[in-house]
Amino acid sequence: MTDFQNVINTIYNNLKSATDKGIVADYIPELAKQKKESFGIYLKHINGNNYHVGDWDKPFSIQSISKVLALSKAIAFEDKKIWERVDVEPSGDPFNHLSLLEHENGIPRNPLINAGAIVVADILVSRLNNPKQDFLNYVRDISGDQTINYNLKVAKSEKLTGYNNYAAANLLKAYNNLNNDVEVVLDFYFHQCALEMNCSQIANAFYMFSNRGKCINNVAHITLSQVKRINAIMLTCGFYDEAGEFAFEVGLPGKSGVGGGIVALLPDDFVIVTWSPGLNPKGNSLIGMQALEQFTTKTNRSIF
Ligand code: GLU
Repeated sequence: MTDFQNVINTIYNNLKSATDKGIVADYIPELAKQKKESFGIYLKHINGNNYHVGDWDKPFSIQSISKVLALSKAIAFEDKKIWERVDVEPSGDPFNHLSLLEHENGIPRNPLINAGAIVVADILVSRLNNPKQDFLNYVRDISGDQTINYNLKVAKSEKLTGYNNYAAANLLKAYNNLNNDVEVVLDFYFHQCALEMNCSQIANAFYMFSNRGKCINNVAHITLSQVKRINAIMLTCGFYDEAGEFAFEVGLPGKSGVGGGIVALLPDDFVIVTWSPGLNPKGNSLIGMQALEQFTTKTNRSIF
């Protein structure tokens, strides 16, 4: 039996005083206020046991991690039809690459790069009656936590500086791959990225991807086949232009966000979340990547 608490304590102690903690994202001004010293790890095992250390209970901006939750809701509505509007190939590009031109047909490379996530947001705006509130309720339901909320200051801050995302949305609109108004879709997208959650709430939300589509309350939200595809997309596209490195070093499907969070999981086994706001040059949490590499090495757990 692996002593998970001991493993994450050791990793925490190895890394908490690292001299290089990366750089906190400042292109969204509100995110620049985060403290580089924050560091937390939370592990949720499929058998119900939880292990945690450090700042696991402090809420932070989940940013791109939200793209997986939005994708799961869109796939539940559309199933295979979604792939007519967004591809499933890793991009090898930074998160904000417009990722449209290579196709000349307005189909973004994958649903986890910004352009693809904006198409997913468009689907949810079309499908949900009160998109922002209904999506928030979905995240609250799958996490079993009604206290989760949007950080409105972060949403506003991103809107004021979101030139790249406006460019992507306008290109999508020009290619007829956006059915709703650019403003409405981006308002939804900026709120989705501004969800504020702590490591344990994220682990609870992602539990269904390790538990064959059933959330922590044992309700099935997506099918096993849909889980397989979402996990495959996380593995190949979850880390911007560093997805290969994450698969190589860590060996788990996962997703990072520029708020410094990373979630990774092993189907039928566990979900692990790290938070450390300093990013590496590719936009992934520097210490989080190292923590997860140490975790899969020490526990001999990976999909490979
Ligand atoms: N809301 C961020 C953006 O669109 C998400 C970036 C990220 O976490 O990768 O710029």
